[in-house]
Amino acid sequence: MLVFLTFALWLLGGLHGALGGILPSFNPLVRSTDLMQTATSLGQQLSKDATIILPSNPLWDEVIARGSYPRVNPGYFVVVEVATESDVQKTVKFANSNGIPFLVVSGTHGWTKTLNKLQGGIQINMRKLNTSVVSKDGKTATIGGGTLQWEATSALFNQSKQAVTGLCECVSVIGPLLGGGHSMLQSQHGFALDNLVSARVVLADGSVTDVSASKNADLFWALRGAGHNYGIVTSFVVKVYDIPAGNQWTVYSLIYKSDKLEALFSLVNKIDAPSATRPSKLVLAGAITRIPDIDAAQPVIAYTLSYEGTQAEAEQYAAPFKAIGPAVTTVTTNVNYVQLYTVTGNNLENPVCRKDNNIFGSGISLPSWDTAGLRKAFNVFAQASADPRFSTSAILTESYGMNGVRAVDAKTTALAPEERANPILTTPIFWWEGANPQDATDAEAYAAKIKDAMYSGVTAAGGKRHTYVNYAMGEESRAEMYGYEQWRMDKLKSLKSIWDPKNKFRFYNPII
Ligand SMILES: Cc1cc2nc3c(=O)[nH]c(=O)nc-3n(C[C@H](O)[C@H](O)[C@H](O)COP(=O)(O)OP(=O)(O)OC[C@H]3O[C@@H](n4cnc5c(N)ncnc54)[C@H](O)[C@@H]3O)c2cc1C
Repeated sequence: MLVFLTFALWLLGGLHGALGGILPSFNPLVRSTDLMQTATSLGQQLSKDATIILPSNPLWDEVIARGSYPRVNPGYFVVVEVATESDVQKTVKFANSNGIPFLVVSGTHGWTKTLNKLQGGIQINMRKLNTSVVSKDGKTATIGGGTLQWEATSALFNQSKQAVTGLCECVSVIGPLLGGGHSMLQSQHGFALDNLVSARVVLADGSVTDVSASKNADLFWALRGAGHNYGIVTSFVVKVYDIPAGNQWTVYSLIYKSDKLEALFSLVNKIDAPSATRPSKLVLAGAITRIPDIDAAQPVIAYTLSYEGTQAEAEQYAAPFKAIGPAVTTVTTNVNYVQLYTVTGNNLENPVCRKDNNIFGSGISLPSWDTAGLRKAFNVFAQASADPRFSTSAILTESYGMNGVRAVDAKTTALAPEERANPILTTPIFWWEGANPQDATDAEAYAAKIKDAMYSGVTAAGGKRHTYVNYAMGEESRAEMYGYEQWRMDKLKSLKSIWDPKNKFRFYNPII
């Protein structure tokens, strides 16, 4: 156990002063040597590979760095890098016995503002629980609770397997899964959470339990859709699939000028119409964004059509998109599942994975594109992205395919049923630099206008807003994220009273 305990320096060197505004309000012990001794004793109880890091440590900035910083900036006084399940248990018990709140962190890309409610707490950093092991029968893999997408994807790929993982390498596997888990493979196999077989979960009191369809089935239900509210997943078992022979994807990158907006999204509506038979291997995604080399005056639509198959097989699906007349068309073939992250611009080196700048989105789920609302949203975005602060921002226009997702009965998981019903996931994503609170206020105001425009067709028809919980910015109502059915919310609350009666897991889009 490596302990970076420089408490004396911490107190003498002014850091205590810096934290003083936060810490005394929750626990007077922080001012005393008692807590230092207790923290030291925690360190001594942990496994040899665990690490305790205090603000005075040179590594501090690195371990608290996160996506959407400083807009999202939970307040910690210590980071515990756990290395075993038992470390997690001991840390939770330590926090409870000292009345200290805690937050579990894996990929650090959660962007909801509700995380800021954690102040003066312990960060339980899961990154050392990073393993991906395929079972002997080749049907499942056990993934560590702190594993990132790229780590799991490449480990499985080396064994000719793939799992339903998200689209971005730097995000954890478990973070998206607990709230859904959109994926290039969702139309074939369902959301990431539909592929969860079992989990090891450290509960609010520090005890640990197995969770599956046959063990603690009620908690298994809650974990799949509202999982951030119920415990710390130290490891979990997911279904894995053989990588198809040849394993080649074909990716069309099509850039359209803004006059094609209506034609493009009307075509997507046809492909996703209830009567259509969209193939599960077809994945559609895009972003309305600024590319001055293509159009100096207006945002453009950078659209991607990916197909798991050869170009000859994909061409029939690409043809109507090409017929609309993109300004630029690029085709990349023979792409495998690991390379797909780079070809689609979601790899570790891509700016989407940056940790030190502000980002937020607000996922808008739609039954189909309302092209009038979309045009209004485009116009707001054109104004917002002309503002130099937000010039690299985008509106995501994702439509990954729903066959596998709809094959699962919505009642069997906690996930909001709207997530399984609506094929369109569109998200204004704002990026900006710096810590000026006015920038966040302005970005959120633009996003709110874009949301109003995007939802206008739904609300005019008497429908209700639904936001993907993992894309929520932190201001949405619970019903908007977790669904409008009363029985579902009642059940989630009742399960909280059983599994987390003191509401320790309350910082990520909380149910209570
Ligand atoms: C660049 C980017 C790409 C994204 N791509 C996708 C995508 O393809 N598909 C998709 O569905 N979503 C995607 N998202 C949204 C993503 O699902 C959420 O941002 C998610 O919260 C990120 O999880 P994380 O572990 O990386 O972040 P963290 O901030 O570390 O975790 C987020 C929350 O998850 C909980 N948590 C983390 N680890 C554990 C654990 N081991 N046990 C229990 N709870 C835990 C905690 O409540 C924590 O606050 C993306 C987000 C970004 C920023």
